[in-house]
Amino acid sequence: MNKGKLYIVATPIGNLEDITLRALRVLSEVDTVFCEDTRVTGKLLHHHGIKANMVSMNARTEEQKIELALELLQGGKDIVYVSDAGTPGISDPGVRLVSSAKENDLGVVAVPGASALTAALSIAGVPTNKFTFLGFLPQKKGRQTALKEVASLKQTVVFYESTHRILKLLKELEGFVGEDKKVTLARELTKVYEEVLQGTAKELLKQLESNPQKQKGEFVVIVSS
Ligand code: SAM
Repeated sequence: MNKGKLYIVATPIGNLEDITLRALRVLSEVDTVFCEDTRVTGKLLHHHGIKANMVSMNARTEEQKIELALELLQGGKDIVYVSDAGTPGISDPGVRLVSSAKENDLGVVAVPGASALTAALSIAGVPTNKFTFLGFLPQKKGRQTALKEVASLKQTVVFYESTHRILKLLKELEGFVGEDKKVTLARELTKVYEEVLQGTAKELLKQLESNPQKQKGEFVVIVSS
């Protein structure tokens, strides 16, 4: 019997229209859609008129749900994995599922699409021929070391930051990179309040402190020359 395929499908990072035709077809054809949160994916599928059998698989449960996923694949069923937003595995669950499928000689197929990482880089207007992506910086242990790395790297550095820590981060960047580097904040990409702010850490800190609205939402941070 032919084995099934695991499709790793990218989903929108805000605007529900940012999904490929192929992704919609695959989502509607597979046996089971494993997703980080069935409510989030349910909303996306409903928006596109797709009915699917969903199974929740998040960072906490990934290990325990892998067995079911592998069983389905071994039994010839095609399945999908989607995270809440963007490309699975990029600071998101999905990595362990993919490596388990590969260890078991099962086919893994990418259905590419949105990622906050590439979306931010594509509109920042900074050097992108070479860049380092750091995911989320550590919150406590290792944070100072990571910030030193950000300051010392010659190429563009990109990382994700949550809304709660954006002011703290800008204060830290002011200390670590000073006036030497340009900081880009790509906020709420593809959403209503999307904006890209650029300047030194000190300038951006001033802007955000004087306008709390700008501190809200999801951020990609880019530090460049
Ligand atoms: N896998 C996702 C991707 O491919 O972009 C990233 C998931 S990670 C858990 C979530 C982080 O991505 C957020 O905290 C934020 O830093 C960034 N992010 C996601 N959506 C975003 C958006 N619309 N605008 C800016 N940043 C976003």
